[in-house]
Amino acid sequence: MKIESLVKPSVLAQPVYEPGKPIEYVARELGLDPAGIIKLASNENPFGPSPRALAAATRALAQGELYPDGGCFALRQKLAQAHGLGADQFIVGNGSNEIIELLGHAFLGAGDEVVMGQPAFIVYKLVTLLFGAKAVEVPLANHRHDLAAMMRAITPKTRLVFVASPNNPTGTANTAEELLAFARGLPEHVVGVFDEAYAEFQESPADLRPLIREGRNLIGLRTFSKIHGLASLRVGYGYTGAGLAAVLNRVRQPFNVNAIGQAAALAALDDRDFTEKCARENRANRTQLEAGLRALKLEVVPSEANFVLVKVGAGARLFDALQRRGVIVRPMASYGMPEWLRITVGTKTQNERVLVELKALL
Ligand SMILES: *Cc1c(COP(=O)(O)O)cnc(C)c1O
Repeated sequence: MKIESLVKPSVLAQPVYEPGKPIEYVARELGLDPAGIIKLASNENPFGPSPRALAAATRALAQGELYPDGGCFALRQKLAQAHGLGADQFIVGNGSNEIIELLGHAFLGAGDEVVMGQPAFIVYKLVTLLFGAKAVEVPLANHRHDLAAMMRAITPKTRLVFVASPNNPTGTANTAEELLAFARGLPEHVVGVFDEAYAEFQESPADLRPLIREGRNLIGLRTFSKIHGLASLRVGYGYTGAGLAAVLNRVRQPFNVNAIGQAAALAALDDRDFTEKCARENRANRTQLEAGLRALKLEVVPSEANFVLVKVGAGARLFDALQRRGVIVRPMASYGMPEWLRITVGTKTQNERVLVELKALL
């Protein structure tokens, strides 16, 4: 029997996630020296992990025979202090991607609807379809979430609404006022999911905490993958009401976050110098990258994150040609934007390199 006929239809309906290719893989495939390749494809931190996080992770490795703290007790305590919330208001996940999946476990089944932007982070749609629910995709307006249209798209069947601010792949954010008004206006049967993976790169991100304290059904998602430079260790968290946090804790695996990641995340929260440096460098280097792209007469979407979306015309061809020159960026066809590339803001040297290679190819 063909395996496809045995599989749940919702699994076969999954669009394929197109991850950025690892450097070693590209080097082998194209016969390049891995040392000469730069990867600006996955919005990783060009400054690596915080040195303090790295030291803590290394220490934690020595106790690799022990199961991790399944409740992420110390990390939730520290997050609670950092955010001025209770430790019982946090859910920690194997990356914030896992928390998106936990929301699916807890809330989604056949017939349910999930409202999201188009284009928005592809994982919202993946999880929606995985649980047999319907993705209601609302086109962005001027590259930003059209919050009024998203509100109109809510029906009695809607369970979750995803708003990423800054959004991926556009890098754009709605204003804090817009986001808070939207959150306040959500009907009671809908959980508002505010993905803040890039909030630390913003000057003044929206603050959901007062609304959470009021008891609204909202969750903010954060990650250690971006500004903290710990993407490899897979740690993200949600902050929300204690009730929703308890629900999500029921549907996770007992040891969903590894001990090395927990130790690194704890230390990363203490390393404010590092995150401030990364935010500052990102702003300067993003200005450099955007200006360089505009000097090549390319349309650039103004970004508040650590990546930029740029219109190059033949996106797939340029992606391929850049890769042959040792620069890995992200093609956007899977987001329905075949004319665009998403480029992570690198160091100044990396940005110069991508600009030089692009100029040679255009
Ligand atoms: C990178 C990113 C995340 C983070 O995912 P992790 O699983 O924590 O690595 C979440 N949301 C968006 C929109 C992202 O771009």
